[in-house]
Amino acid sequence: MGRIHSIETMGALDGPGLRMVVFLQGCPLRCKFCHNPDTWNPGGGQEVASEAIVARAVKLKRFFGARGGVTFSGGEPLGQAKFVRACVGLLHEQGIHCALDTSGGLWNEEVQALLDACDLVLLDVKHSDPARFHDLTGGDPAALDAVLAHLALTRKPVWVRQVIVPGWTQDEAQVRQMLRKTAGINRIKTELLPYHTLGVHKWRALGIPYALEGAQPPSEDTLRALRALTE
Ligand code: SF4
Repeated sequence: MGRIHSIETMGALDGPGLRMVVFLQGCPLRCKFCHNPDTWNPGGGQEVASEAIVARAVKLKRFFGARGGVTFSGGEPLGQAKFVRACVGLLHEQGIHCALDTSGGLWNEEVQALLDACDLVLLDVKHSDPARFHDLTGGDPAALDAVLAHLALTRKPVWVRQVIVPGWTQDEAQVRQMLRKTAGINRIKTELLPYHTLGVHKWRALGIPYALEGAQPPSEDTLRALRALTE
């Protein structure tokens, strides 16, 4: 059994092809730009059995095509690594591709086993500098370093992603540092995503002061210039 926030049945953004996206409940980080603070509480959401998730995916399998499958996102799926790994094992028995969308914010033996079990990792690098990473997320940068070291060792295919946040990640030196930090892994794609304010209303609904009040999304020109560094 695990706890999930929700399921998106036909996602086209979180991994290759069309995918069922399972948003796990609970996250150890507190990213200032988070657009899903409603996933933070590990006791929230709903309890669900791995078999129920797999049954739902099997019903959708014909839409996945050759490239699609299931993506585990969050929240932070590493927080329920044992449960997610059980799901992945059952999905693989059904021939369904499994991706893991994670911040790399936790490291332990169960996390290691989950990384090894998945077919693809979408690694959200919140910040390339350890001290700034901690300031931006409240998390332990050593966990991300351990995840990166393991991914480098196993050569697991990885999509590296980063949200471009004004005043935090929105600068060329930071992006270059992020590219150096991830150079040793099997990085098959790099995506820079614009900060947005679509989740601000959720902070308000939860009664939490929004940490980036007044911040504006990067302009198209800024994003284009930063993306050029990744090509
Ligand atoms: S890792 Fe994701 S869910 Fe967790 S706080 Fe950061 S943005 Fe939000």
